[in-house]
Parts: sequence; structure tokens; C-alpha cells
Amino acid sequence: MSYFPDSGPCDYFDGRPGLVAVGWLEAGFEFPVGDVSAASLEKLEVLLHTSWQETWTSFLGWHECSLCNQARGSKNLFIPGISCVYVAPELILHYIKAHGYKPPGDFLQAVEECPPQDSQNYFLALRSAGLDPTNWWVPTCFGNSESGVSPEDHKRAVENEVSRLSLKYFPEEHRSATAGLYAEADPGSGPGV
Ligand SMILES: [Zn+2]
Repeated sequence: MSYFPDSGPCDYFDGRPGLVAVGWLEAGFEFPVGDVSAASLEKLEVLLHTSWQETWTSFLGWHECSLCNQARGSKNLFIPGISCVYVAPELILHYIKAHGYKPPGDFLQAVEECPPQDSQNYFLALRSAGLDPTNWWVPTCFGNSESGVSPEDHKRAVENEVSRLSLKYFPEEHRSATAGLYAEADPGSGPGV
């Protein structure tokens, strides 16, 4: 894992802008300590248990707590804020419980207000906070001409993936957009027939 100061930019995820780091602790770097309310802790546990995961939202393998080497995690938590998306490693819960870490107040506020992560509202909130899960990592995760994939195949793969993701995360929008296309293509629905 990498070290990022709390509330600073997190560029672990391919340099995607707008991600704000919370809880990326590493041995050798100071971190704030203090009490975290039971309500925040409980909500954080629920969110971690049900966290939104695509292959590219996880670490490439396990990350071990470098403060004690007694805990490890692989997932990351994406929490929509007012105008940013916070990203915290799974180990944040361990850092709070075992090392007394106190995350920033605006992050804890966002945690308490975060919709369930399998809900439409969660993905809508992510998108309005600046992270669109339907196009986030699509262009880079399918290779490019340098990797031997032809531009046509790459374009088709990206289009298919955007379609798959939009059906998965925004099914109503996806269906209405698709229905519109079908309606226009239907000769029976045209005027003057
Ligand atoms: Zn630890």
C-alpha cells in the first residue's frame, strides 16, 4: 500500500482525480488519535461488510497493517461526500479499533449518511460526487494499441463494458436509453404509416 495523508488526494487508482484519501496509515507517519462514536463505527462496519467492489477497486493482493503486522485487508471503501469521493482501505476499521486512529470529521459524517452500497442511491451519490462507476476505469482496463489490441477491438470492448456497467449500476437509465433506441428504429411507430 502507499501512504497518503488524510484529506489529501489519493492517486493509488491510476491517478483518477477527485478521490480523497482517508485512513492510509503506514508505520513511520503520524496519524490523529481520538474517540470515534459508536454510531460511526457501527455504520463503518456495515459498509465494509457490504462494500462495493469491482476488480479495480481492490488492492492487487493483501495489505498488512505496518503498525503491528497483525491484521490485513484487500478491499477499499468508496464513500460519496459533498463534492468528492473518499477512499479508505479496509484496514481503517482495524486502525480505529486497535490503534486509536480518528478519521476526519467530514469523512465520518459522510459514512453516517452513506446510502446502502447495493442501492441505486449509492451509485447516484458516487456519480454526483464525481466518480461515475460506469466509465471510471473502462478505458484503461482493456489495453490499447500498444498492448496489441486493435483500436476497433478496444473501442468495442470499452463500449460493451460501459453498457454492462450502466445496466448493473443504473438499470432504469440504461433501459430507458435502450428503449429509446429501439423506438426510433421501429418503422411501425413512425408518423404517416
Ligand atoms: Zn495494526
